[in-house]
Amino acid sequence: MDPLMKAFKLLTSNGIGFLRLCAEYSPYDLADDGIEISLAKNYTRLASTLFSPCDSPRIQRESVALAEDRGLSLEYLEMVEKHATKLKKRGAAWRLRAELIAFEGTFEEVESYAKKRVMEEGGDTKKKPGVRLGRVVDGLRTISITDTQRRITDLEKTLDAAIKDDDQPRSAALLEPFWDLVEGGGTGLIRPEYRTVIAIGLEDFAKVSCGKGEDVVVALSDGTTMTGTEFINAAMAGSLGDKLYVGLFHPTAGPVNLYEARFASDKLRTLAMAENLVCPWPDCNVPADRCQVHHIDAHKHGGHTKPSNLTMLCKYHNGVNDDDGPRKKRKRPSRGRMRRHRGKVRLHTPGGKLVGNTQPVSSMGAMDLI
Ligand SMILES: [Zn+2]
Repeated sequence: MDPLMKAFKLLTSNGIGFLRLCAEYSPYDLADDGIEISLAKNYTRLASTLFSPCDSPRIQRESVALAEDRGLSLEYLEMVEKHATKLKKRGAAWRLRAELIAFEGTFEEVESYAKKRVMEEGGDTKKKPGVRLGRVVDGLRTISITDTQRRITDLEKTLDAAIKDDDQPRSAALLEPFWDLVEGGGTGLIRPEYRTVIAIGLEDFAKVSCGKGEDVVVALSDGTTMTGTEFINAAMAGSLGDKLYVGLFHPTAGPVNLYEARFASDKLRTLAMAENLVCPWPDCNVPADRCQVHHIDAHKHGGHTKPSNLTMLCKYHNGVNDDDGPRKKRKRPSRGRMRRHRGKVRLHTPGGKLVGNTQPVSSMGAMDLI
């Protein structure tokens, strides 16, 4: 192994050891050793939480010992801390630190578990619907609106549909359509027509059909979710369109076919949307409705336009996907490429790992329902 990589490994598997060192110095001493001052302050603050007297000395002692045993990294401990400090009740922060330090899972799994626990303990204040106005900065002001996902997404679709100049960044392109709408131009909000795809498993569909829809949540390709009951209401109101589309997915081969559709190209697009309701690139959250159809094996290399070779990708990730694979020398380092692995669309990193998107709506797509 490269010695630099070895040194990095040594550091990352000794988070507690490193913080013990930090505890003996002031951040200004550490800054003299070349650690940037704001970083040094973070480290000494974290060190004092871990090693100074607290409200749960036994849990503290045991957790620190376990973290050292498990060789947890500095990044891991900082992530634990970011979530634990949100809990203010006596003893609650240390209980969460202990849970997260003992948690077996990837960094991402621990993080999403931590968010869930903080929410349960009431540490994160829930967003409240409303319109908020900012003060003047450099002659500009900001307005932000928080409301149900349905209302905001309908507004977003209305504005998207009125964009004239597609070359501007999205936020700039949405501005004029917004003012047109406010000033009474156009015909008001677009009533959503669900050519947006809804992914639902057979078992859930059976539940919804016999009226037990309240505990079923389905995800839509515009990035929102609705309950089974809302789904039935939308069907009754005719906003699901006059045809119902049925996608057939095989657990390992991926999408197989879509029934009841008019155009081949349309049909393939719809099927790809049902599979990945958001761009499947890790951590991306662009909903499938705003994505492009991407050939997993590039057309120019003989890839076919058939369901299992297609996926949705947002404009940006479609652009950075490395269509040529390792066969080509290139100027920029490769970001990796999309591949289908055991039926599911994954990012194949330059280092050879297969990584999926863990975004919540992404994990509710068709291939995760079977
Ligand atoms: Zn993307």
